[in-house]
Amino acid sequence: MTSRPSSATFAIAVALLFLFSCGLAKTTGFITHTLKTGGEERSSPVEIPASTTGPRMIIFALDGAVPADLMHGIKSLQMPHVKELLGNDLGDGLFEHGYAAREALSVLPSSTIADWASIFTGSVPAWDGIPGDEWFDRESATFFAPVPVSMTDVADNTKLVTDDLIGKELKVPTLYERLAVRSYVSMLSVHRGATYYTTVGPDSLSDLFRHLVRGTLRGREPERSLSGTLDRSSVDELTQAIEEHGIPDLQVVYFPGIDIFTHAAEDPLNDQVRYLAHVTDGAIGRVLDEYRRHDALDNTYVIIIADHSHIPTMNDEDHRLGPDDDGSPFKAVAKAGFRVRKASLVVGDADNDFQAVLAYQGSMANIYLADRTTCPNDDDKCDWKKPPRFEEDVLPVLNSFYRSNQRGRPIPGLKGKLDLIFSRQPMPAGTKALPFEIFDGQELVPIDEYLSEHPRPDLPELAERMRWLGAGPYGNRAGDIVLLPEACMNVPIENRYYFAGMTHYSWHGSACEQDGHMPFILGQANGSGEKMRSIMAKFGGPSPSEREMTPLVVSIFGK
Ligand SMILES: [Zn+2]
Repeated sequence: MTSRPSSATFAIAVALLFLFSCGLAKTTGFITHTLKTGGEERSSPVEIPASTTGPRMIIFALDGAVPADLMHGIKSLQMPHVKELLGNDLGDGLFEHGYAAREALSVLPSSTIADWASIFTGSVPAWDGIPGDEWFDRESATFFAPVPVSMTDVADNTKLVTDDLIGKELKVPTLYERLAVRSYVSMLSVHRGATYYTTVGPDSLSDLFRHLVRGTLRGREPERSLSGTLDRSSVDELTQAIEEHGIPDLQVVYFPGIDIFTHAAEDPLNDQVRYLAHVTDGAIGRVLDEYRRHDALDNTYVIIIADHSHIPTMNDEDHRLGPDDDGSPFKAVAKAGFRVRKASLVVGDADNDFQAVLAYQGSMANIYLADRTTCPNDDDKCDWKKPPRFEEDVLPVLNSFYRSNQRGRPIPGLKGKLDLIFSRQPMPAGTKALPFEIFDGQELVPIDEYLSEHPRPDLPELAERMRWLGAGPYGNRAGDIVLLPEACMNVPIENRYYFAGMTHYSWHGSACEQDGHMPFILGQANGSGEKMRSIMAKFGGPSPSEREMTPLVVSIFGK
């Protein structure tokens, strides 16, 4: 069996858009300019020399790596390069030369763009301004889709590379800006302030096209997948940068292919182990070898971290709550009396009179509502800087979702598919947004209070993670209503749903334990695992969140 076209098409599109965008970004060898702090434009180099005495670090950023899969790969010796780096397994997360946090936790949503922003700033969405793979900014009435989920337009994804989209939207300093050391970043969306940013080049394209026409993206053969070629090619570029410019103080190595491969893999959790073994481990090994060749590996700190994990899902339209599907949240908002914005990156003047906007994250959706007194008639453009009125604008939509979920009215296709509905009293633009609360069909209930009556151990740290998403100066970017579908591993796969325009064999984005836990390993080549454990103990111990990585790295660099 192969994956259905919608799934494969998306994965191919993602792989290709990386290639196209990288091809645009790069003309020779690698990008030979620095990215100016602030990221408004790329400038000529302001070279920071590598330290001769300070620490050195490599961060391997593995998109979508499932912690159990990674640990299995390491312990079963299917990942010999990582195993050699970490040394003997001493149990309880401790290795001879490293320490693996047992229950590291993502911010919400457990989605790529929000999570990497948090990891590489030490902040959280309501403060750093990056609330998901898609979001709507009320201030500028702009829709952002750096990883398109409700739509297929990849223009914003291209801008991750060509236009430093995340650097422009981030409201807090990046790790590179805080460290002010010589830093190279391979592929990652968060690269503002890095000394060099490397991406794959157009010479990889023809090779990848061959894989495309053979259909080898479809999840069974990691070595021959487009994802694998992409990840391996990125190592070519970063090692070339090292050859030309020497070893940096900080090297970030981002592998997007793991996530792309897993979404499209028929048996996602098991197939990912094969990808980690057959592609990722070798790619990591090549980076470590490059350091060895420069006699630079000993004492180099190594972090292995992911942004989120994966939950297996049914790869069919019955489990997808897409914009045009029977159980569409778009339809539930429309039934509440709103003109809903089309699922499109940009809309023309004729469609600019929308009163509601939906952004999708896979296993989470965000709904943004206008004060409809500013735009009562067709063709009126709403004043998005004004918050909606709770009773007149937000409550009708909450009721539409709640009743559809409970009783199948007004949207029969949504019945029984939602887990939790969050909202809050709207706040004016420019003020701190309030924490989300849970709508129980009657009123908003503080999350802690709700959970004391309805315990949900499958939603770890729910109240705190929802505060990080919603409560802060940019909390409005998470919307007026947040939906979680039935998605966790404790419900059968037939009863798991996702908000997306495409179908996949696995998704993430939820508040569930499974996709929110990610690997977070600190090691040091030839260093002591106990020392790594004691460093990690100061930053969340066995259960750090993603926001702990940046302060941990800053402390290692003594900044
Ligand atoms: Zn991701």
